[in-house]
Amino acid sequence: MPGFELLGQEEKKEIMDVLDTGVLFRYEFHEQRKGVYKVREFEQKFAETCGTTHAQAVTSGTAALKVALTALGVGPGDEVITQGFTFVATWEAILEVGAVPVFTEVDATLNMDSEDLSKKITARTKCIIPVHMLGAQARIKEIVEIAAQHGIPVLEDTAQATGGRIGGKHLGTFGKCGTFSFDAVKTLTTGEGGMIITGDEELWRAMSEYHDHGHDHKVNPGTRGGEGRRFIGFNYRMMELQGAIGLAQLGKLDFMVASQQKNKTFLKEAASRIPGVAFRELIDEQGDTATHFAFILQDKEHCRRVNECLRKEGVGAINFSENTWHYYPRWEHLLEGKTITRSGFPFVEPSTGKRRIVYDPQALPRSSALLERTLVYPVSIKMSQEKLQQFGQALNKAQYA
Ligand SMILES: *Cc1c(COP(=O)(O)O)cnc(C)c1O
Repeated sequence: MPGFELLGQEEKKEIMDVLDTGVLFRYEFHEQRKGVYKVREFEQKFAETCGTTHAQAVTSGTAALKVALTALGVGPGDEVITQGFTFVATWEAILEVGAVPVFTEVDATLNMDSEDLSKKITARTKCIIPVHMLGAQARIKEIVEIAAQHGIPVLEDTAQATGGRIGGKHLGTFGKCGTFSFDAVKTLTTGEGGMIITGDEELWRAMSEYHDHGHDHKVNPGTRGGEGRRFIGFNYRMMELQGAIGLAQLGKLDFMVASQQKNKTFLKEAASRIPGVAFRELIDEQGDTATHFAFILQDKEHCRRVNECLRKEGVGAINFSENTWHYYPRWEHLLEGKTITRSGFPFVEPSTGKRRIVYDPQALPRSSALLERTLVYPVSIKMSQEKLQQFGQALNKAQYA
């Protein structure tokens, strides 16, 4: 999964380019920086790699979601639909712009169930955020089609699937925009960082301005201090050192994905001997970034026995139905409306003191039924022969569990 496995000489060289100029800021200092604009170059190369025209770097994948939602004009009074199996950041960003998150079931892709999506669209729905979870594709073409029928923009949360594709077309380019995370455990890492891609120049311009206090970035005799602004903004700027690391990591992306695919194939073959085992549905196996290997057992009890066996062999798998950061029924702080604000906002309407957002923990029974019998292994870029053998032996034994 993580690009940190490959941090090396290339990253060092890029970082030294920045330190040699002494300019850590992505804007200004034109004389001093001697042509070194790492964040700008990273944006350009990232957009090019994904086959799109515009990219906006930001401080994190969470910030990317917030900046994208803001640029799309989403705010209080709006609903945004996402899936009940994702990292908390997806709905944190929705709440952060003042909108209400609405959750769909996930299907055999472990991503947004498009039938359930259709049922959850209302007149208030102003954005749909499918997530390409665990490295692999949501049914993005279907989702974009459904959204288009209602005139709703699609934002692809591609935080976990940098480098993923369908039929050669990069994830993040199917919807109106796509967001990425480069945090410490993601495929391409800059330690902290994120990116938004879009083919819409106006949308990109709004993101660029909002993420930098509203600065319009137009050439101006008064330099930065004299720049104009169209609206209020915030600061989500990426710094040059992150851009530098991102450039080096981008050069390794194809290798990362290819290595993960190879290791995943080994695990899949080993697991296929387990009676009744099924695998997560992949829209396009070649375009899977293979950060995770998900296998589905006959029922909850079988799943428990298999994982017990794997644990005994020292290679226990993740059951996401027990995970408190990625699965709807386990988000007790969301379900119980826990917030640090005195008024209770966003869960409570400050003017009336009444609860305005209420969630039912049982609302996604099909997702629960599926995730309760699904086991997941994170896949690394580097996996030694010994490690692979350990997995192979454990999965072999698991066929008798
Ligand atoms: C990691 C992640 C994010 C947030 O990214 P950060 O860079 O950690 O803020 C958002 N969505 C998903 C699905 C993620 O996995």
